[in-house]
Amino acid sequence: MTENHKEQKNVQVLIVGSGAAGLSAAIYTARAGLQTVVLTGPTLGGQISLTAEVENYPGFPEVLSGVELVAKFQEQAEKFEAELDYDSALKVDLSVRPFVVETEGKIYLAENLILATGSKAIPLNVPGEEEFTGKGVSYCATCDGFFFRGKKVAVVGGGNSAVEEALFLTRFASQVTIIHRRDTLRADAIVQKRAMENPKIDFLWDSVVEEVIGDGGVEKVRVRNVKTDQVSEVPFDGVFVFIGHRPVSGLFDGQVEMENGLAIVDSYMRTNVPGVYAAGETVDGFYRQVAVSAAHGVMAAITLTKDNE
Ligand code: NDP
Repeated sequence: MTENHKEQKNVQVLIVGSGAAGLSAAIYTARAGLQTVVLTGPTLGGQISLTAEVENYPGFPEVLSGVELVAKFQEQAEKFEAELDYDSALKVDLSVRPFVVETEGKIYLAENLILATGSKAIPLNVPGEEEFTGKGVSYCATCDGFFFRGKKVAVVGGGNSAVEEALFLTRFASQVTIIHRRDTLRADAIVQKRAMENPKIDFLWDSVVEEVIGDGGVEKVRVRNVKTDQVSEVPFDGVFVFIGHRPVSGLFDGQVEMENGLAIVDSYMRTNVPGVYAAGETVDGFYRQVAVSAAHGVMAAITLTKDNE
């Protein structure tokens, strides 16, 4: 027992994070006969579970929701007896082996560690955003779209996330306005076409959100046109922000080599600390695809298994 009397648990493989990378790694390490625990973190499934529809994960031609895909990953990991612990890592010590990982409920002593903490949405960082988060400001259409039935919402961003989630929101909202800082979208052509053809979607081009305004809930958004500098207040009931993601890596900052918040790994997903591997959006800020994260998890798991033979 340690000073804080939390239960200690020895484990061969501890996977921090339960997104595509973490759960795919678990399928492989558990199937290889290594005792595996996955710390789920606050959101089982990570970013995918916040995605309304997944239509490009190979092998699933039918559109399925992120939550459905996560359930399949989970079922497969548990089939091979990986254990899911619905808890989050608070502290890690990678200077000793077994590595020490403290969670809310336990202290894990892990022979091997796979870091798969993924990424999270970047906020706009404008006045009113934080105040109205959960009261009209959201980063997850799947989670909150339902609350905007018949309402008028803004979607900020011009990438795949923004445009795909805007399309999803048209199921609920009466009008979806995409506010983008340029006059061309970054999203894939097929997604752009769907948005352009959707009568419920319109665009505020060359525009940035400067403030979210309301009283108890979102009422309007102050928008500035970056070309004309003209400022206007546009009424909206909700604001969905999809301007990209950043890695969640504070937990092991300074303990493995990193660059721009991403863990540096070799071609086999090994970090510079022997026994510590990293996968998914913990190492990749470019592809950000379920299939890529899953593949990283598989690579980390196979390397780990071979390193332990
Ligand atoms: P992206 O980085 O692709 O897009 C972010 C968008 O937000 C850009 O349009 C960017 O504008 C805008 N933006 C960034 N910062 C600000 C800011 N401070 N204020 C206003 N606007 C801002 O992020 P996504 O999350 O959309 O996608 C990330 C990756 O994941 C991409 O590679 C994407 O293809 C992938 N993805 C793939 C999906 C799929 O295949 N189905 C689904 C979702 C994501 P600008 O264009 O001017 O830079």
